[in-house]
Amino acid sequence: MKDKLVAILTIILFVFPAFSCSQKQKTLPLSPIVKPKNVILIIGDGMGPEQVGLLLTYARQAPHSVLKDRITCFDRMMDKNGSLGVSLTYAHNVLVTDSAASGSQLATGRFSGSEMIGLDYNGDPVITVLERAIQAGKSTGLVTDTRITHATPAAFAAHQAHRGMETAIAVDMLAAGPDVLLGGGLDVWIPEEANTKEAGVRGELEKLTQGAFPIRSKRKDSRNLLTTAREKGYKLAFNRSQMNAASGKLLGLFSDSALPNAIAVSNTLDDPKRSIPTLKEMSAKAIEILSQNEQGFFLMIEAGQIDWAAHSNDAGLMLHEMFRLNETVNHILNWAENREDTLIILTADHTTGGFGFSYTGKDQPAARQLSGKLFKDTVYNPGYNFGDPGVLDKLYSQKLSYGDIFDKFYQLSKEAQTPGNLALVVNRYTDFPITLSQAERILETEDNPLYAADDRRFNAKTVPKLDNKDEFYIYQKTSNQHALLALAVASDQLAVWNTGAHTNTPVLVFAKGTDAARAPFSGVLHHTQLGQYLMDAVSKK
Ligand code: MG
Ligand code: ZN
Repeated sequence: MKDKLVAILTIILFVFPAFSCSQKQKTLPLSPIVKPKNVILIIGDGMGPEQVGLLLTYARQAPHSVLKDRITCFDRMMDKNGSLGVSLTYAHNVLVTDSAASGSQLATGRFSGSEMIGLDYNGDPVITVLERAIQAGKSTGLVTDTRITHATPAAFAAHQAHRGMETAIAVDMLAAGPDVLLGGGLDVWIPEEANTKEAGVRGELEKLTQGAFPIRSKRKDSRNLLTTAREKGYKLAFNRSQMNAASGKLLGLFSDSALPNAIAVSNTLDDPKRSIPTLKEMSAKAIEILSQNEQGFFLMIEAGQIDWAAHSNDAGLMLHEMFRLNETVNHILNWAENREDTLIILTADHTTGGFGFSYTGKDQPAARQLSGKLFKDTVYNPGYNFGDPGVLDKLYSQKLSYGDIFDKFYQLSKEAQTPGNLALVVNRYTDFPITLSQAERILETEDNPLYAADDRRFNAKTVPKLDNKDEFYIYQKTSNQHALLALAVASDQLAVWNTGAHTNTPVLVFAKGTDAARAPFSGVLHHTQLGQYLMDAVSKK
């Protein structure tokens, strides 16, 4: 009897609080909805099945994979209490979405229009999952490695006609008032006067940011949103140590614009003077702050530069961006281990680049002997080069992004910007060397067939020659050169690209949580449904 009582007491004292969610589920079987306390949405921008596949292929096949036990965050999302869905991403009345419309659809559960932020497709503001979570008494946060006012995070806490209106988006975000905002993009938060050397506000900002990055404003007014943020109770952080020391509501802006790309981050990771937090560090801080709330929290974390690497057709950078996502998600999974109160959704807003490894007719491997009995009298001699997995190690060893490679090249004096020097720079920082004639081809230009002086999308009269694909390489000069470099090394990387823009390929949806919490997120979905399920998950009723 006494033993039985002890056992019951033990269950009440120790088991019940830890598993209150699952207990509720068991004792109230008629209730169809079991709300998770916390909802964490992780968006890999541009992270289609191709990008997920790149990391998985690296993990399984790279001869010197640096991933422990060749396990990725995708494996861990599925290992227990995990499920998989496939989701279409198209926006209203179009085949392909941009990040703004897709983010808006995820955030609101409603169809949105291209390039709109937090609106339905008619242009009316719609409540977002973040705003709904605030109504439900939860803490909320947004974390990104791009600008915090960039399309993806903006869609969760702003309502504007166009994604480019980042100065207005910043105002909206403060009005929405998430507890945590961490990312880059100080330049839309500070008054125009900050561009004047003598202005008092500039001196104040230089002091605040401790010279970590240049001070410049993109605002066309005198509003200092940092002051507004302070009045609203935010602590401000501009570097890693300020962030680490902060508690309570936090606005952290760690660059004038986007944060560095994943290769640049890796290159400076062990530098004791590193002032910019990693995506993982920002996410950890966000959880530390948000998890104080007894009512739970909603947190959106964006790995935003997978998309940019894919726009650049930069496979080595894209692999590093996937690593950045991987370590961030792994941290979340470690935190959530053994919790039953948290729903984690890992997905993308769309696919970018149309990437894949492909086999070629170049470098056909030599015929060789096999021990199998059907090869006793003949050699094994496949007709094509199906790809050496060693390519994966070489992609991982890339030392600069294509963007930074071309920056280095264009920092040379005009006379030194020769094909020979381009080849030198490329061959120093990548393991896929280019020849002089390939460098010449990359630097060739022609009249831009799409150029019109009054067209806001195109600013260069002459662009690198991309033959017939210009329409899909919409970011012009540099992006075209990145694509040409990708083309030059394609047969050595076995990597092919279809576009410099997004594609309609459905994206994967990994969900982890209790059976009931994750159930809606599997199957074939559309992102508006995902948005509705998220909305439902954070709602009180
Ligand atoms: Mg984005
Ligand atoms: Zn994009």
